[in-house]
Amino acid sequence: MAKSIANTAQEPHFFDDVSQFFDHAAQFTKHPKGLLDQIKTCNSIYRFSFPFRRGDQIEVINAWRVEHSQHMSPTKGGIRYSEMVNEDEVMALAALMTYKCAIVNVPFGGAKGGICINPKNYSVNELETITRRYTVELIKKNFIGPAIDVPAPDYGTGEREMSWIADTYTTMNPGQLDSFGCVTGKPLSLHGINGRRAATGRGVAIAIRECVDVAEDMKRIGLTPGIAGKRVIVQGLGNVGYNTVKVLLEFGAVVVGVCEYDGALYNPDGLDPDAVLEHRKNTGSILGYKKATKEFRTPAEGLEQECDILVPAALENQLTEENIGRIKAKIIAEGANGPTTPGAEAMFVEKGGIIIPDMYCNAGGVTVSYFEWLKNLSHVAFGRMDKRYEEMANLNLVNTVEAITGKTLTPAQRMTIVKGADELELVNSGLEDTMIRAYHEIRETKNTNAGIDTLRTAAFVGAINKIAVSYQNLGIWP
Ligand code: NAD
Repeated sequence: MAKSIANTAQEPHFFDDVSQFFDHAAQFTKHPKGLLDQIKTCNSIYRFSFPFRRGDQIEVINAWRVEHSQHMSPTKGGIRYSEMVNEDEVMALAALMTYKCAIVNVPFGGAKGGICINPKNYSVNELETITRRYTVELIKKNFIGPAIDVPAPDYGTGEREMSWIADTYTTMNPGQLDSFGCVTGKPLSLHGINGRRAATGRGVAIAIRECVDVAEDMKRIGLTPGIAGKRVIVQGLGNVGYNTVKVLLEFGAVVVGVCEYDGALYNPDGLDPDAVLEHRKNTGSILGYKKATKEFRTPAEGLEQECDILVPAALENQLTEENIGRIKAKIIAEGANGPTTPGAEAMFVEKGGIIIPDMYCNAGGVTVSYFEWLKNLSHVAFGRMDKRYEEMANLNLVNTVEAITGKTLTPAQRMTIVKGADELELVNSGLEDTMIRAYHEIRETKNTNAGIDTLRTAAFVGAINKIAVSYQNLGIWP
C-alpha cells in the first residue's frame, strides 16, 4: 500500500516540499533508487556575489543560478528579483522547471535564477547595471547560452530585464548567430514572440477550463461542469494573475476577488481587473476601489472568501496547514510556483477539493518560451513563410465549392475561411494544444493507477517516467 504525504505540524522548506511530492510519486514508478536520486538532485548550483556601486557606497548583491537537470539541453527557467530569494527557493524552482518541461514535452532541463533585491528600491538605471553584471557573471561561468541555459522572466522581472540580458550576452559574444536565443520573454522588437507575455496566464485559464469541463469530476466536488459563471479569486495581479483572469473573463467566468500585497477586494457580482489596476495606478493602492463590496487590509483574508476557484498567482507557501481549512474554493489552480505546502494539499484533497498543480498549471510560459527559442534559432517568425500560400489554397477551395454548389459565401464567411494563421494564432494554438493534452494525460495517469490520490502525484509520476527514460538512453559517461 502506498504511503500518503504526512500532515507535518512543522512546515518544511520549499525544496523539501518539492522533494516530498517527488518521493511520494516515486512510489508509483518502478525506477531504481539511484536513478530516482539522480533525477531529484540539483546538478549545478552557482551562488555568487558581486559589488554594486550606489552613490559613494558599495553594496554586495547576492545571486544564484541553479541548473537542476541536464538530461535535456539547454536548461531553462526564469530569473526572480525578490528580497526573499534564497538558495533553497532557487533550487526548488529549478527542480519544478525540470518536471514542468517533461509534463508539457518541452525538450529542456530545468533551471532557475534569482537576485536577492527588492526591485522597487532601485532606479531603472540601477536595475540595468545589476542585471547586466548578473549576466556577465553567468557568462564567465558558462551558465548562460542558447545551447546551455536559457533564462526567462519570473517574479519581479519582465521583458525589460530580458532585453538587458540579451543585449549583454550578444555584446559579449559577437558574431554568434543564435545569440538572441540566450534568453526568452524578450519584447517583440528584440526577437521576442507574439503571445509570450500572456502565455502563462492563458495556460492557467486553459488548465482551469479543462478541469471544470469534466462533468464526472465536477459532480464529485459539487460543481456544475463548464467555466461560464464560475466564481474566481486571484492572488497577485501581476503577469500570471492578470493574464489568467483576463482569459477567464473571456471564457465567461466571474472574478469575484482580487488579493494584492497591500490588501484584498471582493464583489460577488464581479470585479474588473483593468479598473482595479487603474485605481491602483491613480491612488497607489488597490484599497478604496469603489466597486468592491468588501475590502480587507490583510491580503490573506481575501483568499478565504466565497468562490469556486482560487488562483494563487503571487508566491510560494501561501496555502498552509494554518489557513487551508478556511479556504472555500473547491478548486485551487496554482498559477504561482509552490503556493500550497504538502500538508495543506493533503488536507484540501481529503476535504474533496481539486488542486491543479503548478508544474502543469503554469507551464504555458515555458511552452511559449520554447516557441520563442525555436523562432530565434530559425531566424524567421512563425507563419511568415506559409500564411499567404495557405490563404491562396483556402481561396481556391472556396471558389471551387462556390462554383460546384452555385452558392456564394458572405464576405465575412469568406474571410473567416480564407485567412491564414499569423504568429499569435499559431502560438496560441500550440499553447492550447499543449495544455489540453497534458491535462488529460495527467488525469488519465491518476485515474488508471490505484493509489494515486492527486493530480500533482500523477503529474510527478508522468514527469519522472519521461526523465528516467532520457537518463537511461543517455547512459553514463565516463
Ligand atoms: P509578477 O511580479 O509579475 O507578479 C506578482 C504579483 O503578486 C505582483 O502584482 C505583486 O504585487 C503580487 N504580490 C506579491 N506579494 C503578494 C501577496 N502577499 N499577496 C498578494 N499579492 C502579492 O510575477 P509573475 O511573473 O506573475 O509570477 C508570479 C508567480 O508565478 C511566481 O510564483 C512565479 O514563479 C510564477 N510563474 C511565473 C511565470 C511567468 O511567465 N512570469 C511562469 C511560471 C510561473
